[in-house]
Amino acid sequence: MLKIALPNKGRLSEEVRELFNDAGLEVKVRGERALTASLGGEFEAIFVRAQDIPEFVADGAADAGVTGWDLVCESGRELVQLMDLEFGRCRLVVAAREESGIEKLEDVKDGVRVASSFTRLTAEFFTKRGQQVTVVPVSGATEIAPHLGIADIIVDLTSTGSTLKMNGLREVGTVVQSSARLIARKDHAPEASAKLEELTQALSSVLAARGKRYLMANVPRRVLPGVREVLPGLNGPTVVDVQGGDFVAVHAVVPAKSIYRTIAALKNLGCEGILVTRIERLMP
Ligand code: AMP
Repeated sequence: MLKIALPNKGRLSEEVRELFNDAGLEVKVRGERALTASLGGEFEAIFVRAQDIPEFVADGAADAGVTGWDLVCESGRELVQLMDLEFGRCRLVVAAREESGIEKLEDVKDGVRVASSFTRLTAEFFTKRGQQVTVVPVSGATEIAPHLGIADIIVDLTSTGSTLKMNGLREVGTVVQSSARLIARKDHAPEASAKLEELTQALSSVLAARGKRYLMANVPRRVLPGVREVLPGLNGPTVVDVQGGDFVAVHAVVPAKSIYRTIAALKNLGCEGILVTRIERLMP
């Protein structure tokens, strides 16, 4: 049985569960506050705080885990990233009060106090740049620290930047780009490798399918060259003869983002019976 540590609450938890469910690893929780759940088959989930997941995996309490890359970096533990799950995107940034006169990282003078809950990354970041700052550890609401006078600048997570702006702060530099990642120990047992590979493939196939749609259309044979240009597909569209007619059936995998444009282009070419469906998994 392979143990996977997943976030029990917070920003990442919902999307992680949805991804595992879509990959066929349905999270079957026993009771609302259960700490473990069966993922079916050979996997078991253990639910812990997102920030504890790097430790759990590094210490061997779990074979793999899903958490934010920011938290993996902050833990300082030697872990490998098996895949980028592409959600929970955010940046760990340096921000200063609008009226502070600090507009870029070079403006941060030695002796400046930096409030952050990412104390390790903050210290490492400024040391590497050769800037001597004092890190003020906080555990939340970092953005109010400059207003309370307990720090001059902050290092905090942001995705849209709106919370920073609302608090009169300006971004002056990026420490880490983050998103949710599947992580494992560097030296996991060989028998775990094959199962982790299976897990990675199952999750990848779901992510790959999310941005695509399966499209079918009846195409007048004479406009097929035009349709081929509209539908490059994965390996070009599949064209099926419709017996005894002037039409062929065309099937293709297309980007979900441009589906409206694709449909309009096909209609213009005289295609009929256009059908678009979601794809559960895609293994190119
Ligand atoms: P939690 O504090 O449990 O809600 O989880 C926080 C994790 O969600 C962070 O460590 C990040 O990896 C991720 N995250 C994604 N977007 C944001 C954001 N805008 N602000 C803070 N954390 C974010």
